[in-house]
Amino acid sequence: MNTDVLIVGAGFAGLVMAERLSNVMGLRCLVLDKRAHVGGNAHDAYNEAGVLTHVYGPHYFRSNSSKVVDYLSQFTAWLPTSYEIRSFAEGRYWHFPINLNTFEELIGRPSDEEEFKAYLEHKRVPISKPQNSEEVIVSQVGWELYEKFFKGYTLKQWKKHPRELDASVCGRIPIRTNRDNRYLQETFQALPAAGYHRLFQNMIEASPGVQIMLRTDYRELLPHVKFRHMVYTGPVDEFFDCRFGALPYRSLRFETQSFEADTLASRAAIAGKQGFWQPAMQVNYPNEHDFTRIVEIKHATRQRCENTSIVYEYPDDYGPGKEPYYPVPTAENSRLYAQYAELAAATAGVSFIGRLATYRYYNMDQVVGMALHEFEKIEPALSATQPRALYHATR
Ligand code: FAD
Ligand code: UDP
Repeated sequence: MNTDVLIVGAGFAGLVMAERLSNVMGLRCLVLDKRAHVGGNAHDAYNEAGVLTHVYGPHYFRSNSSKVVDYLSQFTAWLPTSYEIRSFAEGRYWHFPINLNTFEELIGRPSDEEEFKAYLEHKRVPISKPQNSEEVIVSQVGWELYEKFFKGYTLKQWKKHPRELDASVCGRIPIRTNRDNRYLQETFQALPAAGYHRLFQNMIEASPGVQIMLRTDYRELLPHVKFRHMVYTGPVDEFFDCRFGALPYRSLRFETQSFEADTLASRAAIAGKQGFWQPAMQVNYPNEHDFTRIVEIKHATRQRCENTSIVYEYPDDYGPGKEPYYPVPTAENSRLYAQYAELAAATAGVSFIGRLATYRYYNMDQVVGMALHEFEKIEPALSATQPRALYHATR
């Protein structure tokens, strides 16, 4: 079998590369994925209750990059949304991320920004350059709010103390003194109007040189295919047979429950409207239960359907048969990754991109940006009329 570019992984990283290589350069791309669908972790589908759900946990598209948004807008219209969530602690729902509304819930009376800022100034631990996820939160809000909302959640999610995790992990969560309830900070916040799967299908249908092969591990196919370049978006340690040791990942287990309209009537008072189970698209459970959050994505997709589905998200150890959902951002792991990164940089004819191949806790838009950048980088070499030497697995 011959192709110009062999692409391992049909997630955002692989499909953006395939679309660019096919449409800009007219190359043939063979995209392989182990899974039975395209889209990687951003895959969505209608479940048996007819509810559009995000199969691998909620995927809230957001971006500060007009380049990325403009690129994706060729393949989808957008449904603007502001992604509001709640945190459930001490038997009640709280506004989250922490803002003036949360502060009023804490003190049990109306307040203003000035009073909240004075409270934070009094409570915060002065740390000029936070070195880890505990420091990044206590330096902004102090111990009480850290322990109420962050410590337990982080221990559950990562099975590590926030002190062991890079500051960027909890630092993702904004802390505000106004009443802005949005979970995310980016300027563009919207979902693909017809869902992620439609977006991916549109990309593929617009790319005549792209062939997709699902349920296929690239290692099985490698001896049978010839190609000029490889784009690899799987786990970087696996590519090199874990020769420096396995990189740690965190996995998840999802449990879905669906409800029909009549069984939802009793939830209307809690959800605040008919046809929903909980008051927001996502409710975090920092201190109780084994799950970290319950997601009812219908709040964000605004699907018009009487049924609803909720998804419980349970953190899980990574191992055989599990998906490597999250790289674990610790100092030790980034040292181990640096060894693989050096090897990857020295591997001619292979682009390592995406969340797993670069072992980075990237959002979707960052992965799209990385793929667009990589395409621009390899385009001149691939444009050479003479095909480069075929890549042969050396492992
Ligand atoms: P992936 O989507 O992981 O795709 C890689 C693909 O490679 C997979 O389909 C895999 O099956 C395939 N593969 C691996 N090894 C092989 C092999 N040996 N052979 C063949 N195929 C292989 N981002 C946001 O912007 N907003 C969010 O709200 C958000 N929420 C998230 C929630 C969860 C629970 C998770 C896990 C991630 C979330 N993300 C979110 C991040 C988002 O999923 C990633 O940024 C994005 O999907 C990464 O795309 P990718 O192509 O790099 O990787
Ligand atoms: N986090 C927390 N409490 C929360 C929400 C998040 O402590 O209520 C911490 C936790 O460590 C989590 C990180 O912040 O892993 C990032 O949260 P986010 O919701 O962005 O995680 P993701 O959607 O990527 O799983």
